[in-house]
Formats: sequence, C-alpha cells, structure tokens
Amino acid sequence: MTISTEYSTAISARGICKSFGTGEARLTVFNNFNIDIADGQFTAIMGPSGSGKSTLMHILAGLDSPDSGFVTLAGRTITDISDAALTKIRRNHMGFVFQAFNLIPAMTADENIMLPSKLARTNVDPQFKHAIVDNLGLSDRLTHRPHELSGGQQQRVAVARALVNQPDVIFADEPTGALDTRSGTEVLQTLRTCVSELGQTVVMVTHDPAAAAYADRVVMLADGYIVGELYSPTVEAISQALLEVTK
Ligand code: ADP
Ligand code: MG
Repeated sequence: MTISTEYSTAISARGICKSFGTGEARLTVFNNFNIDIADGQFTAIMGPSGSGKSTLMHILAGLDSPDSGFVTLAGRTITDISDAALTKIRRNHMGFVFQAFNLIPAMTADENIMLPSKLARTNVDPQFKHAIVDNLGLSDRLTHRPHELSGGQQQRVAVARALVNQPDVIFADEPTGALDTRSGTEVLQTLRTCVSELGQTVVMVTHDPAAAAYADRVVMLADGYIVGELYSPTVEAISQALLEVTK
C-alpha cells in the first residue's frame, strides 16, 4: 500500500460559523462559510475592512476557533482538537508572516529563522535553508539583530522563518502592510517564487490589489461571504472587483 502525501486541497473549511460578543453587541462574521484552498497555489483573500479576512485566516490556521464547522489542513482536522495537538500541527505544518514582523529582538536573523524548527524539534535541510536565505538576499545579514536590519530585510527574515520548516501552508496577513513599495515587492516576489518553484501553498490576506496580483486566485469577501473570485488576475481586474464590493 502506498500512502499518498499529495493533497490537491491544502485546506478545507466547512460550515464555519463565527460570532463575536453577546446580546446587543453580538456580531456574526461568518454564517455557514465554506472554502477550499488548493495545494501549491497562491491564494489572496481580499475585501473591504471588516469583511472578515483576518478572522478567516485565523480560523484556517487554527489561531482562532469557529463556533461551529470544521477545518482540515493537509488532511488533518484542526478544529475540536486539544491545544497541544494544534500547537504541534501549527509548528510542523504551518508558517506565518504578519504585518508586524514579530521577530525576537535579542536574537540574530539566523536564530530567528531557526526558532520554529527548534521549537518543533525538526531538522532543517541545510541546502534548503541556504537556498532560501540566498534567494531572500539574507546571506550576509544572518548575524544581525532585527534593529540592525531595514523593514524589508526584517520581513524577509520573517519569510525565511516561515519557510525553513517547509510547511504545508504559509499564512500571511497583510505581509507588505508596513513596508515601502520596493521591500513589499521583494517579499511578494519571494512568496511567488516559493509557490512557483518550491510548490509551496500560500494564503495571503491583503487589501492591496498590486499585492493580490501576485496570487493565482483572489477570493473576494464582503460581510463574511465570498462575493467573487478571480484567477491569474491583473491589478486592474482586482481593483475593479474591489470597487464593486466596496460600493
Ligand atoms: P478584516 O480583516 O477583513 O478587516 P476582521 O476579520 O478583522 O476583518 O473582522 C471582521 C469583523 O469582526 C469586524 O467587524 C471586526 O470588528 C470584528 N471582530 C474581529 N475580531 C474581533 C474580536 N476579537 N472581538 C470582537 N469583534 C471582532
Ligand atoms: Mg484584517
């Protein structure tokens, strides 16, 4: 018997319901929401502010739990499992890049990059690490601490950290939100390369059409519903679609 390690669907969410608050202040963000994220694709999640983008990403990554419904990631159910089991899945199968780089100030770039594998007690493939560090232009920055690096370099360290364990999925929430255009472009190109050349799966939340245009698929959210999808989209097509859901 052969056990396939190939997944055509990286993440599957079914019947997701999520509300915040109680009584008068109760706000329903998702009511029976479904989505599939394809393996080896770059998916961007877009939509107006408050449409549920971050909440969705947090639920898909097990950073927040839905009130009901379930999520599977790389064939594993990540809803209704213990915190310990979830932490293990997160460490071994997910990488994260946030708007705030979340690097440890007292650690060098190299120590920051190696932290997830240290926590997960996994062995990093030195050739793979070398390739991504080189690709990200960080080879001569590994001994620097975050405050000695530019914003773009810090975010590239965060991308290397997310990648080094070769996770099943990389989640990025507004990864270019705090960067200038040039640094943002570098980070987006790196994520694009990870998908095109390394077969990575990336889920990125962004409000920027230029950033979303790096994706294979753009999912447009409004008020907790998928109101549109674009494949291999241009910046213009994304901007137009975003205008339509925002008005
Ligand atoms: P987006 O990322 O698209 O801007 P969010 O997913 O952050 O939207 O938020 C969706 C809605 O849920 C917003 O109205 C927001 O105010 C609300 N919300 C998000 N997180 C919380 C929370 N922890 N407590 C209460 N309301 C929240
Ligand atoms: Mg958000």
